[in-house]
This record gives sequence, structure tokens and C-alpha cells, in this order.
Amino acid sequence: MTAQLIDGNALAKQIRAEVATRVAALTAQGRKPGLAVILVGDDPASQVYVKHKVADCEGVGMHSVLDRHPATMSEADLLARVRALNEDPSIHGILVQLPLPKHIDSAKVIGTISPLKDVDGFHVASAGALLIGQPGFKSCTPYGCMKMLEHIGCNPRGKHAVVIGRSNIVGKPMAMLLLQAHATVTICHSATPDLGAFTRQADIVVAAVGKRNMLTADMVKPGAVVIDVGMNRKDDGKLCGDVDFDGVREVASWITPVPGGVGPMTRAMLLVNTLDAAERAA
Ligand code: NDP
Repeated sequence: MTAQLIDGNALAKQIRAEVATRVAALTAQGRKPGLAVILVGDDPASQVYVKHKVADCEGVGMHSVLDRHPATMSEADLLARVRALNEDPSIHGILVQLPLPKHIDSAKVIGTISPLKDVDGFHVASAGALLIGQPGFKSCTPYGCMKMLEHIGCNPRGKHAVVIGRSNIVGKPMAMLLLQAHATVTICHSATPDLGAFTRQADIVVAAVGKRNMLTADMVKPGAVVIDVGMNRKDDGKLCGDVDFDGVREVASWITPVPGGVGPMTRAMLLVNTLDAAERAA
């Protein structure tokens, strides 16, 4: 079997078009949704990410602010900036680009964002809401993965989902969303012995590790749906995921490519969260 591709670019485009329609409706009522992206320092990858996020906002007609600061910015100044944005009625979503410089406590900064504007879904209030099944912002990457499953008609109910990785921004919220969708969920991590013994039982595998070729064809059940969150570089500098794509696509039923899979969906879901924040504020 050769797996079908889950085209993240195409689905993200569709979602952006839907967002643009809702943005236009809010804007017509004088309530244009707004996102503030805070960047501290000059990490090259972060600069690219924030540029994309601001361009995405413009593409759907949202207001956006790129709030850049030198790496020497103090934690107190950054917290004050976040508080000011919490109070700014033209801003409905606040995103602090990570990683922050080492002298700044990221948890403290994220914890200062109003939960009503936490469009990245990283605040403990958002994580807690997800855990107990209350409404709140979902972390954009797992949210995008769930949208992909929905798009291909893969209902997690009754399925065994294996999530590889347990970070607060991907692995754990991914597992919670799958659990909410009534999957039986196994979370694997660096201390999991014999990873393949778990993944071979999975109807859905989500790889969110950050290591090339860590999921190979012999570790995948025939017909499984494979979502590759990982972002790594090959020796030639090209982007790749955690999954041995060429091998696994011969075993899986559906697979996400890297690039063009989860990445564009993460960006699209940030727009969805910002729009939701603006609609709630309205
Ligand atoms: P983290 O480094 O925070 O987490 C990685 C997880 O992988 C950890 O839980 C770790 O386990 C686990 N792990 C490490 N080695 C193994 C192993 N050999 N077997 C099983 N599990 C292992 O990364 P993130 O969650 O932030 O990101 C994961 C990947 O996804 C990265 O490549 C990142 O770049 C990418 N990413 C992509 C996004 C997108 O939009 N496409 C968005 C966000 C991230 P332990 O907890 O035990 O250390």
C-alpha cells in the first residue's frame, strides 16, 4: 500500500480562506482581529517564524504588530510590555516567540499573558482547560494535527493513538486532544523501551521528537495514519521530519509530508485562535 498524502498546504489554504471571511465580517463591525507577536533577540529561525506569522495575519486581513526587542531586554520590561498588550483593545492575541534569552523566565512571561489572549495555548490556564475538557485555546500544532485527521475522515474514537514526545507544547496537548476525541492514547518518550512495540499497535501515530528517521516502516502497522510533527535538517540542509517518509509511506494509509504537512497547519491554527479570541472579545 502506498499512503495518501495529507496536504497541509492545501488544507491550511482552505482554513485561511474561511478565516478571511470571518475576519471581514468582524472588521465590518469595527472589530478587526489583532495579533501581537513579541520577538526578543535576533535568533535567525525565530525571525523567519515571526515574519511568516505577521504575513499570515496580513493575508487574512487581520491587524498585526511585530514587537521587536533587543536580546538585552530585561525580564521586567518584557513583562510590562505583555501587560500593556493585555490591556490593548486592538490586540486579541499575544504570542511570545520562544526561545527567549536565557536571563528571561519563559514560564513567567507566558504566565503573564492574559488567558483570554493566549492564542498559542501555552498558558497554564489553557493547558488546564484542555486537561479537564473546558473551553480554552488549544496549542496550534496539535490543534492542526486534529484538523488534519478530521479532514481525512479519521475519527480517533475507539482507535489506538501513539504520541511520541511529551513536551508541553506538542506531545502532551496532542495526547489530550486525542483522548478528548475518544482515542485510547499511549504517550512515548525518551525513556520508553522498545518504541516500535508501541507504535506497531497504533492506528494513529504522531511523531513529535525532533530526530530524523526515528520512525521507520518496520515500526508502523499497515494502514496506520502517520502524522509527522518533527522538523529536522538533512545533511544537505533540506527540511525533514521524524519519519522515514519513503519507507513509511509504503506501509501507512495516510502520511503528512515535511515540509508541507503540519507546519502550515500550525500557522493556520494560530489565525483561527486569534480570530476566536476576537470573536469572544466582541
Ligand atoms: P521537545 O524537545 O520539547 O520534546 C521532544 C520529545 O521527544 C520529548 O518528550 C522527548 O522525551 C522525546 N524523545 C526524545 N528522544 C526520544 C526517543 N529516542 N524516543 C522517544 N521519544 C523521544 O520538542 P517539541 O515537542 O517542542 O518539538 C518536537 C519536534 O516537533 C521538533 O522537531 C520541533 O522542531 C517540531 N515542531 C514542529 C512544529 C510544526 O509546526 N511543524 C511545531 C512545534 C514543534 P523526554 O521528554 O523524555 O525528553
